[in-house]
Amino acid sequence: MLITKKNCWLACFLFLALKLTAQTYEPGNVYFDKNKWVEFIPGTMPLVISVPHGGSIEPADVPDRTCPGVVTVTDGRTINLARAIIDVFKKNYGFYPSIIICHLKRLKVDVNREIEVATCGNEDMKVPWRYWHEMIDTAIAQAKSKYGKTIYIDLHGQGHPNQRLELGYLLDNEQLQQSSKSKDDTVFSSISSLHNLIESSGDKLKLKELLTGPNAFGTWMVESGFPATPSQQDPYPYPNEKYFDGGFNVRRFTQEPNVIGWQIESNNRGVRDNMTSCYSFAEAFSKNIIRYINTYLNIDTKSIGK
Ligand SMILES: [Zn+2]
Repeated sequence: MLITKKNCWLACFLFLALKLTAQTYEPGNVYFDKNKWVEFIPGTMPLVISVPHGGSIEPADVPDRTCPGVVTVTDGRTINLARAIIDVFKKNYGFYPSIIICHLKRLKVDVNREIEVATCGNEDMKVPWRYWHEMIDTAIAQAKSKYGKTIYIDLHGQGHPNQRLELGYLLDNEQLQQSSKSKDDTVFSSISSLHNLIESSGDKLKLKELLTGPNAFGTWMVESGFPATPSQQDPYPYPNEKYFDGGFNVRRFTQEPNVIGWQIESNNRGVRDNMTSCYSFAEAFSKNIIRYINTYLNIDTKSIGK
């Protein structure tokens, strides 16, 4: 198209109109949808944490989810856990992650499922579902625009008998066992939620090392006093053990370029049974995330938040 004065003005007008309507999300502010069902706290570092199952709001006019295959258990105190993480990052490092919280009870919407199962077809619940996913997209985009890449964590709570953190990298019990015992586990690298990290290293980083090596996140958490699998100390859950390997959110957001992520299914005892535990976990988590950024993301942590 020939650029004339007239269509140049039109382009400028459209650009300005878009700029005025596009909302900006500033760290220091907190954003909600119009019903205050989903909360977005923009952060200042390359870490985005979502909390999908800690909500307690049950709008009376929204029917309970009863469609086939739904799970409606609430992940108790995971919202407190996320807020403790922000507090500890601010206190110890002066910067903090972006956090997205769903305050609706899982009985009404499950934001860690695809939209039809998430809402059981209820149109009213599709609105907060979309807002939730849009805010995570926004947080990831903001972190990537500043740092080029980001860590993404979907934070849950599990009620399994074994009191340990279950780190979900989109690999199930059997795949983790095979990976930890094989010499070459590249077959699982491409389907794991760390595939972006491994690919960006030119395959120098090995999945096995990232899951069960001395410098795996799980290994560091165990050393910090929080049992975890996979880790060097506890490389895979046995076939008969219950274990969450990562869900819809981790699968969806780690498909984005330059997003490295995993699910954390926190056990109750010593992690979220009271606020003292939440803050102990937050101390260990933040220290090991900083170590992860230093070791694997090639981002100078001294430059974060500046
Ligand atoms: Zn959950």
